Amino acid sequence: MNKRTIKVGILGCGIVGSEVARLIESDKSDLSARSGATLEVVAIGVRDSAKVRAGVSPKLLTDDLDSIVTHPEIEIVIEVMGGIDPARALIMKALAAKKSVVTANKALLALHGAEIFAAAKSNGVDLYYEAAVAGAIPIVRPLRESVVGDSVQRVMGIVNGTTNYILTKMDEDGASYEAVLKEAQRLGYAEADPTADVGGADAAAKIAILASLAFHTSVTIDDVFTEGITSLSSRDIEIARAINHVIKLLAIGEVTEKGEVSVRVHPTLIPRSHPLAAVRNAFNAVFVEAKSAGELMFYGRGAGGAPTASAVLGDLVAIARHLSFGGLGGRESDYADLPIAKMDSVMTRYLIRLDVADRPGVLASVAQTFAKHAVSIQTVRQSGRGEDAELVIMTHSALDGHLAATVADIASLDAVKSVESVLRVEGVESSSDS
Ligand code: NAP
Repeated sequence: MNKRTIKVGILGCGIVGSEVARLIESDKSDLSARSGATLEVVAIGVRDSAKVRAGVSPKLLTDDLDSIVTHPEIEIVIEVMGGIDPARALIMKALAAKKSVVTANKALLALHGAEIFAAAKSNGVDLYYEAAVAGAIPIVRPLRESVVGDSVQRVMGIVNGTTNYILTKMDEDGASYEAVLKEAQRLGYAEADPTADVGGADAAAKIAILASLAFHTSVTIDDVFTEGITSLSSRDIEIARAINHVIKLLAIGEVTEKGEVSVRVHPTLIPRSHPLAAVRNAFNAVFVEAKSAGELMFYGRGAGGAPTASAVLGDLVAIARHLSFGGLGGRESDYADLPIAKMDSVMTRYLIRLDVADRPGVLASVAQTFAKHAVSIQTVRQSGRGEDAELVIMTHSALDGHLAATVADIASLDAVKSVESVLRVEGVESSSDS
């Protein structure tokens, strides 16, 4: 029996798009055997159609992206151009024309996911986006399909390779943030403008997507409390090490005791024994806690042309199977519609580092300030003497709002010269913290 041919259009031919186009051509017979159809790329949209792209036929390139999403024979559109506009309008047009869509665009989905998911549903087509979160790592499909019968309580991940590379080098080599960032830029692990990575926005977009799936609630990037790694110092890393912890930029989504969804990205101390502590360099990992499944961990390469293309091709084959044999993929649901928690109502632990003058009564006044705001201290360490002493305080779980009020009061104490850092702590409270 002759297999049908499914025509595919690609928007974008950069790091990911060019790899996707090359792999569809080089792996044609395997992809055909697995999907039940011959996949044929008929057009690739770019800005500069005269630019040579290795392994990609120049005849496929066009700067008329509209002609791809309205092409009468194209059944699947792969969007790997990035950005909000015109990607959003092009995807909406493709869906309206009853084409299924694969996208790797986390920024777009974290902002306009609800609108795009609704358009895919009302047009009866597939929308897949495995590559939008954590590159090659299967995490969207597991949350959307595999654990959909369970109750996910928490999703916690290292979902940005650039910052994980920087933090790994700071931890292992004792280097400063600035020095490691420069090295990361030289090696291609960080972009010339690293703001979206080091400021936390990239991770925030990804946790918005994961939290929406995990908690059946529409979460956007604007709901995510976001703090990057730019103000971390070598001293913070050194102190974490001294108490057997490591600092990671964690993206966390969880259902709170009040039944609200808390979504946040911030540098976080975790015990060295925690599975996420072993995720080094540019690798990503996502840790999922579900009521019946317990703890699950997904680990792998979070970026790069080939790893990201792997996820895109998985989506492409899934959709091609549906077109060949019938059916549609699982859909997102937002039926739970849980409220988003305000950051000040989130419970976590903290490590606070103060620069103080070593005078009688300093410790007592600091301890009283914590007590006044109902923040309980787990351990206190003091180092240095005279005018150059340092206090490092680890708290028990406390409300973020109470901690913020404590820190504001402490900063105004006479003996406190400066609040050097306030870092959140996750993972089991254990005696190794003290
Ligand atoms: P990229 O290398 O910058 O490539 C973007 C491509 O889209 C280029 O071919 C560019 O054309 C084309 N393009 C962009 N805006 C356009 C416009 N307005 N009109 C026409 N063509 C346009 O980007 P990438 O790294 O491949 O990333 C693509 C997507 O994948 C993004 O959403 C990104 O977040 C996501 N992603 C990337 C990675 C990764 O490791 N790179 C990992 C996961 C997800 P020209 O070549 O002519 O400029």
